[in-house]
Amino acid sequence: MPTAKNKDIQKLLSNKLNEKIQELELVKAHSDAVFSSIGEGAIVTDENGRIVNINQAALDMLGFKPEDVVGAWFPQVIKAKDMGGQEVLPLERPISQTFLDGKAVTANLFYVRKDKSTFPVIVTVSPIVLRGRPIGAIEVFRDISSDFHMNKMKDDFISIASHQLRTPASGVKQYIGMMLEGYAGKLTRQQLGMLRKAYASNERQLKIIDDLLRVAKIEAGKITLDRQPVDVLALVEDIMKELNQKFIQAKQTVRLSSSHKKITARIDRDRMRMAIENLLDNASKYTPEGGEINIDVQTGRGKLIIKISDSGIGISPNDRKRLFQKFMRLGHPSVHAVSGSGLGLYWAKQIVDLHEGEIQVRSELGKGSEFIIKIPEHA
Ligand code: ADP
Repeated sequence: MPTAKNKDIQKLLSNKLNEKIQELELVKAHSDAVFSSIGEGAIVTDENGRIVNINQAALDMLGFKPEDVVGAWFPQVIKAKDMGGQEVLPLERPISQTFLDGKAVTANLFYVRKDKSTFPVIVTVSPIVLRGRPIGAIEVFRDISSDFHMNKMKDDFISIASHQLRTPASGVKQYIGMMLEGYAGKLTRQQLGMLRKAYASNERQLKIIDDLLRVAKIEAGKITLDRQPVDVLALVEDIMKELNQKFIQAKQTVRLSSSHKKITARIDRDRMRMAIENLLDNASKYTPEGGEINIDVQTGRGKLIIKISDSGIGISPNDRKRLFQKFMRLGHPSVHAVSGSGLGLYWAKQIVDLHEGEIQVRSELGKGSEFIIKIPEHA
């Protein structure tokens, strides 16, 4: 028989329970509101990868209704393709990797809509862990169509513009060259001086166009290396000879050192030549008159190591992080005094990367910089 006291306790407990239920409902209402109102697509799955919740943004992007997808196995109902247009197998999908590793995974993919059309997305999948146990995953994805098309348009523009610019600019070089050689008759001192300036400007213009063309080519994945055994010390000496006039003009001393008489490495001669030439040219451009430049070439522990150091303007720690980005020219006043496209270091890094190597920078503002290329020799 329930006593009056027991009844009171029961009532108290039931009140407490109701309060807790209300609190939980409030928390759930809050999280549901957050989930459905975020602008990015969001999908929650259980521990078997079955969809338990999907927000409106995800449904709108994919063209599905909740009943098409809720309860279905995620990789089966929401298909993905890689950047090459191949379907990504369920086990290779980010969500499967998250379940395997228990870690968040981010990837660029194409998602397939209900009507089979595709769109590029960036996806992040994170595991949902309760008391140390994975109970599912949440995927957040964003439609990156506009970034994607913008990048493609930019690359196409660079490629078309530089191809169209190169032909007329080479024509100018040819005709000015002919005039300088006297094909159009004898020139006065003043005319010669002006034409030499025009020739030098045109050469700078051609260099920038060539930089743009090379970058367009490397970004289109159109560069494959032609590795041959190369006498690296001879190659560096050759580059030094080519730049000698610059060093003389700037009264800079340039030294080459190595503890070896000969170093042979399998590299792409022409591409590495351009990368080293760019570093050496920069060492001269960003070093005041009378400065020193050193090149050290070594081999050991399966690596070819080329160090190019200067006593120039230096690079601040913050700038060092941005140095290898496309079109990057630093704000130092001496930088704007010399011409450049801001593509040389970007190109050098791409080439060293293709050789499976790395490029490092050590520098101190006002004291100088050192660029170090390390390339594995086995490849
Ligand atoms: P640029 O055509 O401007 O020389 P790079 O890509 O070769 O382009 O270099 C990018 C920028 O990095 C340069 O504009 C300059 O600000 C900085 N930089 C490159 N090399 C050096 C160096 N040896 N010393 C100081 N700053 C440098």
